[in-house]
Amino acid sequence: MDVIVVGGGPTGMMLAGELRLHGVDVLVLERDAEPTEVVRSLGLHARSIEVMDQRGLLERFTEHGRQYPIGGFFAGIAAPAPEGLDTAHPYVLGLPQPVTDRLLTERAVELGTGIRRGCELVGLAQDEDGVTAELADGTLLRSRYLVGCDGGRSTVRKLLGVGFPGEPSRVETLLGEMEVTTSPETVAAVTAEVRETEKRFGVGPSGDGVHRVVVPAEGVAEDRAVPPTLEEFRRQLTKYAGTDFGVHSPRWLSRFGDATRLAERYRVDRVLLAGDAAHVHPPTGGQGLNLGIQDAFNLGWKLAAEINGWAPEGLLDSYGTERRPVAADVLDNTRAQMELMSTEPGPQAVRRLMTQLIGCNEVNRFLTEKITALGVRYDFSGGVGDAENTGDGGHELVGRRMRDIGLTRGRLYGLLHDGRGLLLDRTGRLSVEGWADRVDLVVDTGEELDVPAVLLRPDGHVAWAGGDQRGLAAALPRWFGAPDPAALG
Ligand SMILES: Cc1cc2nc3c(=O)[nH]c(=O)nc-3n(C[C@H](O)[C@H](O)[C@H](O)COP(=O)(O)OP(=O)(O)OC[C@H]3O[C@@H](n4cnc5c(N)ncnc54)[C@H](O)[C@@H]3O)c2cc1C
Repeated sequence: MDVIVVGGGPTGMMLAGELRLHGVDVLVLERDAEPTEVVRSLGLHARSIEVMDQRGLLERFTEHGRQYPIGGFFAGIAAPAPEGLDTAHPYVLGLPQPVTDRLLTERAVELGTGIRRGCELVGLAQDEDGVTAELADGTLLRSRYLVGCDGGRSTVRKLLGVGFPGEPSRVETLLGEMEVTTSPETVAAVTAEVRETEKRFGVGPSGDGVHRVVVPAEGVAEDRAVPPTLEEFRRQLTKYAGTDFGVHSPRWLSRFGDATRLAERYRVDRVLLAGDAAHVHPPTGGQGLNLGIQDAFNLGWKLAAEINGWAPEGLLDSYGTERRPVAADVLDNTRAQMELMSTEPGPQAVRRLMTQLIGCNEVNRFLTEKITALGVRYDFSGGVGDAENTGDGGHELVGRRMRDIGLTRGRLYGLLHDGRGLLLDRTGRLSVEGWADRVDLVVDTGEELDVPAVLLRPDGHVAWAGGDQRGLAAALPRWFGAPDPAALG
């Protein structure tokens, strides 16, 4: 076994699919015998939609989801979509998390991932050659690498002894799906009134006569794994809305907190962390699942390169150096959003000010790029991809993901389905000789590309931009390892 992925949530399944694209043997261990019905995430933001498009998965996601206009993400402050957002997918794709999880699982399985459900990891040990994983039934499994995608209470993180500093939950929210006896009009009117002051409140239809209910809990539960009772929902609804809407027949009941924590390290030798196992924060802005999918997208090709023997030095460590600051930024923006959702007069005044500021397109676009992750730019200075060494002159595209563009034949994202590197060249003069087994060369004179050439990593981020073979020749080994001696003759 090359890689054991612990946890079959969205992060683990995305990662497994990415590893399989590169022929890596993967086994996913999932503690739960059956997929959960609990609907946490409600959809995908623009960058995750781009990720699906880059892997040829767009249709299967859009077919199951509904497209909503972008806007109103930041602390729920109403705002139109900003002008000038640089993406071919300027919408939110509404998808209940169980559907996202299922689609990612189907893709991982199609590509040959092995999944064992009802398998809980309880121990691990590592040495120079690999990792030994211990399951709850005493079985021992061996792999070259192991990735903990096992959620916020990650066993892998705890077994590694990796610190998880941050703040504990201060407030807790009840979340569930159930039926109501009150008329839809009354539910909508009462909800709108309560939400004028209490932003952590919501009751609305989620299909098939079922309502999604969100209401502040009383205090913070000692063990959040224990689901709340319907009685708690009735009590809290009555406290905030003056009615319990006649809630009955719950489909599922859960609770979530606002703990905000970031793992001190994303890698300890042969064991890595991704998704909620590496970062937790409140769900404001709907970013956690998106962040996990993008962690997996960053890690997959790098870990595969390590296993397939061509990873340049430092490539696998660049996963943590690139992704940890992105998570830190998400933690910060959720902290800020939580402040703006407080009912205290000070935060309410700041909220009014923010509402005015979001009226400026620049501010609105800045915050939207943050929440959708379109604004992510990895710092390639120093280490892998250093601008000085690659001769890319620090082009402003370098480190950013590139939007989809039309080409004379097809479009850019259509060239990224196999997860290989790509040199898109308008000049017809550049060469990837020596790396052709890892990097595709496509010469295209389409005018939407406004630089002579770009070198894209398998995750669609720009590794180099320019028109000079010398600069390209420095960038290629930094991201794609040593040239293939056979190809060079
Ligand atoms: C109310 C709420 C609303 C949210 N809304 C959004 C949203 O709109 N958009 C968004 O992007 N995010 C949202 N999130 C966050 C999102 O749900 C999480 O970030 C996402 O599920 C993280 O995915 P993951 O795969 O990293 O972890 P998880 O989904 O937690 O999956 C971890 C998996 O690991 C398994 N596991 C755990 N321990 C072990 C073990 N020892 N051995 C084997 N398996 C194990 C678990 O059973 C689980 O299946 C929301 C969260 C909440 C609570």
